[in-house]
Amino acid sequence: MAITTRDLQHLLALIAEEMEKNRDRLCELDGVIGDGDHGLAMDAGCQAITKAVGELDAAQTAPTLLFNIAAKAFLNAVGASSGPLYATAFMRAGAAAKDKQALSDDDLLSVVAAMAQGIHERGKAEIGEKTMMDAWGPAANAALEARRQGASLSQCLAAAVQAARKGCEATSGMVATKGRAARLGDRAVGHVDPGAASAVIMIESMARFASA
Ligand code: ADP
Ligand code: MG
Ligand code: MG
Repeated sequence: MAITTRDLQHLLALIAEEMEKNRDRLCELDGVIGDGDHGLAMDAGCQAITKAVGELDAAQTAPTLLFNIAAKAFLNAVGASSGPLYATAFMRAGAAAKDKQALSDDDLLSVVAAMAQGIHERGKAEIGEKTMMDAWGPAANAALEARRQGASLSQCLAAAVQAARKGCEATSGMVATKGRAARLGDRAVGHVDPGAASAVIMIESMARFASA
């Protein structure tokens, strides 16, 4: 399937809708091992994206520009650490979509992988440090591995969702070595990382979009 700028506008709106629904839950998770603002940050960032990309004339806007505008909107709207992390993710999505008028299934999977890589390089977190990387890293790996085995886009993203959920659940058993939760040491054990939880929501929205 060819994924157009118009489709991507819908995808980003879908992500924002889900983030808004989960705002309070994400704030509660962040209240336990952080400063309680993660739901507000993700909601504000995703709403800002929806507004900025919603104003674009899809017929005149290439996917790469849409992602770059999304990155700026997110960064400007979010003061928390998730701001620069997702701004980098969307910038990298833009780079992965460079020179494309529309995205193929493989292009969208490259976008997912580029977002994960961007978060990794910006935040310097490895898998196992109790951050959003524990959802994004396994999700991107699972999607690419499924593709190598011949899976369809929706199957690849379903595999990504499973891996993201598993990674997110695993953060509960981890001690944080990045971000605010690192200050808690062992006291963060037993609690899920809020950034991993919001990453699951974003990846679930992508999977839902691809299977629609
Ligand atoms: P803040 O801690 O500034 O309030 P948020 O609440 O928006 O920022 O985001 C917190 C989340 O950011 C954490 O749950 C974690 O998943 C993620 N995070 C923090 N530092 C890093 C990092 N260096 N790399 C990747 N993710 C990180
Ligand atoms: Mg916070
Ligand atoms: Mg904060």
